[in-house]
Amino acid sequence: MADTTFDVIVIGGGAVGENAADRASRTGLSVALVEHALVGGECSYWACMPSKALLRPGAALAAARAVPGAEVATAVDVSAALARRDEVTSHWDDAGQVSWVESVGITLLRGHARFAGPRELVLSTDDGEQRVAARRAVIVATGSSAVIPPVDGLAEAQPWTSREATSVRQVPARLVVLGGGVVGIEMATAFADFGSAVTLVVRGDRLLAGAEPFAGESVADALRALGVTVLFGAEASAVTRDDEGVHVTLGDRTLDADEILVATGRRPRTDALGLDTLGLTPGRALEVDDTLAVTGVDDGWLFAVGDVTGRTATTHQGKYDARVVGDVVAARFGSDDAARAAEAEAGPWSRYRATADEASVPQVVFTRPEVAWVGHTEATAREAGIDVRVVPYDLANLAGASVLSPDYQGTAQLVLDDARGVIVGATFVGPDVAEMLHAATVAVVGQVPLARLWHAVPAYPTLSEVWLRFGETAGL
Ligand SMILES: Cc1cc2nc3c(=O)[nH]c(=O)nc-3n(C[C@H](O)[C@H](O)[C@H](O)COP(=O)(O)OP(=O)(O)OC[C@H]3O[C@@H](n4cnc5c(N)ncnc54)[C@H](O)[C@@H]3O)c2cc1C
Repeated sequence: MADTTFDVIVIGGGAVGENAADRASRTGLSVALVEHALVGGECSYWACMPSKALLRPGAALAAARAVPGAEVATAVDVSAALARRDEVTSHWDDAGQVSWVESVGITLLRGHARFAGPRELVLSTDDGEQRVAARRAVIVATGSSAVIPPVDGLAEAQPWTSREATSVRQVPARLVVLGGGVVGIEMATAFADFGSAVTLVVRGDRLLAGAEPFAGESVADALRALGVTVLFGAEASAVTRDDEGVHVTLGDRTLDADEILVATGRRPRTDALGLDTLGLTPGRALEVDDTLAVTGVDDGWLFAVGDVTGRTATTHQGKYDARVVGDVVAARFGSDDAARAAEAEAGPWSRYRATADEASVPQVVFTRPEVAWVGHTEATAREAGIDVRVVPYDLANLAGASVLSPDYQGTAQLVLDDARGVIVGATFVGPDVAEMLHAATVAVVGQVPLARLWHAVPAYPTLSEVWLRFGETAGL
């Protein structure tokens, strides 16, 4: 018998769970949000926000140095940068987010949640256990945690994950980073800015394996220019730690460092959730359909969103899914008949179906140069059988680029479906390209013909003039 009952229970108060809870409560449902650590989750305290705070000083300095008349000779002020990071994370205090949760009428339950059966949960706290039940639905938004690969001695060597890197207090003189994905290369950039001697160890032969090859090549060149040693085709086989620091064996050589950061991927947090009581496998991602309902569960009461689904790995995409699941739950189980009818009839473009990841997932990497892409790369478009036409452009030719710096370097590339004349992917590499991505996302989602975009006049002198040049390069 449950001590307390709500219409909907959301497990996990990260950015994704907060949004799902907010939307689900909009048609009068009572909603509880369960969190066992800080409300706001990984993004607010150990991921997006602190990492960007750590990267911004180096980026601002590089931008100033690139402009005649504004060059400054100083290096990043590390303690001021860390103080700013502390502010951005609210000193790891979630009071602000808790008051928002309460202000929108959601009940916050502190504690670790695990299933005791369908719609039944046990919450554990230091003070004991409490049983809660959901009358209508449970939404799992428990996120993901860093994977420590099974390298001999690595786990015992107290490696850093992204949590220790983003909450760093003492910048190491020597840092080894394992992994050439987003987290590895962003943190390699930040710690190089802070004066660490960084070695980036990459198993494959390129950085950012999911992006266009030229993006990873540009970042690798830039990291080397920052003093980072980039090792491709390299794999740690053993790690030890002693009074001198950590020692990483790579084939027949050993790297000595003060810290080792593991950035080799993440796994869904489903192992301590009691999923076996529902006939699901602990440790695996929760597979969902486009309404975010977990597949293989009877009666349609269990939903999942965010990193825990393995379907998204960014806050923005997780929050999009959260808005969808919140609306689906509010419509199916709430008091609004019009919403119920709309959800029942929902098609692919409806706000009740999460379909963005079929065509238009945007990703920004805040390295120097920045890398931003959306939709298909050339390779994935070809794999999908699209009639591919690639339209590259050298951003340095734009007047807007020369305003940013006479030495601006950057590249943009569109992937067109030539048969339909529409854009299916875009990649931008260069300083200040992050904010250019959304125009491309709109074009991909809207399936806007390039010929029509010709009439969308970009302002002069901005980087957005690349859209004009794309048209000219494509023969318009
Ligand atoms: C270093 C780094 C930088 C990143 N930078 C970006 C970026 O710039 N932009 C971007 O879009 N994405 C970025 N990401 C990815 C982004 O952080 C994640 O996609 C996002 O945090 C996922 O949100 P979530 O709500 O699904 O999970 P989380 O943020 O992990 O939230 C899950 C919450 O559930 C709680 N929880 C888990 N299990 C239980 C339980 N059983 N009971 C109660 N509570 C529980 C956890 O304490 C946590 O608060 C970055 C990731 C990393 C590691």
